[in-house]
Amino acid sequence: MSAPHRIFNFSAGPAVLPEAVLEEAQRDLVALPGVGMSVMEISHRSKAFEDILHRAVADIRALGNIPDNYKVLLLQGGASTQFSLVPMNILTPGATADYIDSGSWAEKAVKEAKKVGTVNVAASTKGENYSRLPLQSELTLTPGAAYVHMTSNNTIEGTEYTTLPEVGDAPLISDTSSNMFSKPIDVAKHGLIYAGAQKNLGPSGVTLVIIREDLIARAPASLHTMFSYKTHAENDSLYNTPPTFGIYVLGLTMKWLRGLGGLEAVAKLNQRKGGKLYAEIDRTGFYRGTAKKDDRSLMNITFRLPSEELEKKFDKEATAAGFDGLKGHRSVGGMRASIYNAFPEAGIDALVAFMQEFEKKNG
Ligand SMILES: *Cc1c(COP(=O)(O)O)cnc(C)c1O
Repeated sequence: MSAPHRIFNFSAGPAVLPEAVLEEAQRDLVALPGVGMSVMEISHRSKAFEDILHRAVADIRALGNIPDNYKVLLLQGGASTQFSLVPMNILTPGATADYIDSGSWAEKAVKEAKKVGTVNVAASTKGENYSRLPLQSELTLTPGAAYVHMTSNNTIEGTEYTTLPEVGDAPLISDTSSNMFSKPIDVAKHGLIYAGAQKNLGPSGVTLVIIREDLIARAPASLHTMFSYKTHAENDSLYNTPPTFGIYVLGLTMKWLRGLGGLEAVAKLNQRKGGKLYAEIDRTGFYRGTAKKDDRSLMNITFRLPSEELEKKFDKEATAAGFDGLKGHRSVGGMRASIYNAFPEAGIDALVAFMQEFEKKNG
C-alpha cells in the first residue's frame, strides 16, 4: 500500500503533524503492540494508558527542562478555556491582573478575565492592528499584580516575542498556543504556561498547562471541581476521562521532537525555514510583510500582495498548485503561512519557487 499524496498544509490550526507520527499512529491504530486493543478502546485507568500519559509528561518535562516545582497537566477545553480558568484560579479577590494586549487572542483573554475580577490592560497595540508587540517602556504594570498575562506568539497577526517582558515579581502567565516548543522556553521565568495542542504539539482536544506549584493553592475553595487546577494536579490529569487519543498522538509528537535533537535543534530548523520565507517576502517589494520586522513570528508568516485582486488570484493559484491554508485571517487580510515544527522545509522551498513564479507573471 503506497501512502496517499500529502499536499503542503499551511493551516494555522489544527495544523500539520509530523508524517512519522501519523504513520506510527496509523500502524498501531487497530491494536497497540502488546495490548491488542486500540488506544481509543482502553480505559484511562489501565496500565497501558498510564504508561502513555507518563511517557508524554516525561518527554514534555525533558524537552522543556521543566523544574520540579511545576506540574504538567493535560486537559480538555482548548486554550480558550484557559482564558477563564487562569483568572478563576489565580486572580485573587481584590487583586489586579495585568494583561498585555498584543493580538486578537490576547484580547479574548482580557474579555474573560474581566468577568472574574479587576483587569489592567498594561499596553495594547490594537490601534496599530496588532502589527507589533508593545515595547517594555510602554507597559504600565500594577505593583503587586496577581499576575501578568502575555501571548508569546500572535497567531493571527504574525508577531512573536523573542525575549520575555520584564514583569518584576508578578507571576508571568503565557499563552504559548502557537509557538510552544518551537524553541527553548525558560519555564522558571513563568508562573503558568498554557497551549492548545493543535498548532505545535499534537492534535486538537488536548491542552497543555504547566503551572508553578504555589499558584495551584490560590484557587478559592468555592471553585467548581473541574475548573480547579488543584483537582487536575492532585490527580495527574486523571480526575476524569482525559482526551486519551489526543494525549497519545501528542506523546508521539514529543518523542519525534526529542528525536530531532530537542528544542535547540528545532529552533535552528525553524529559523532556517522562516528565514527563507521572509527573505523572499523582502526580496523585491512585490510582497509585503505585515508585522514589524523586529517582531516577526517564525510560526505564522503574514504578508500581503500589491492588491486584493492579486491576493485572491494568489490564493486560487496556490491552492491549485497544492498549497493549502494560505489565506490570511480576515482581520489582517492577505496571506498567512503557518509553518509550525512539523511543516517540512521542502514546502517552504516549493512556496518560495511558486511566489517567484507568481511575481514574474503578475509583478
Ligand atoms: C489558537 C489559539 C487559541 C485558541 O485555542 P483553542 O484551543 O481553539 O481554544 C488561543 N490562543 C492562541 C495564541 C492561539 O493561537
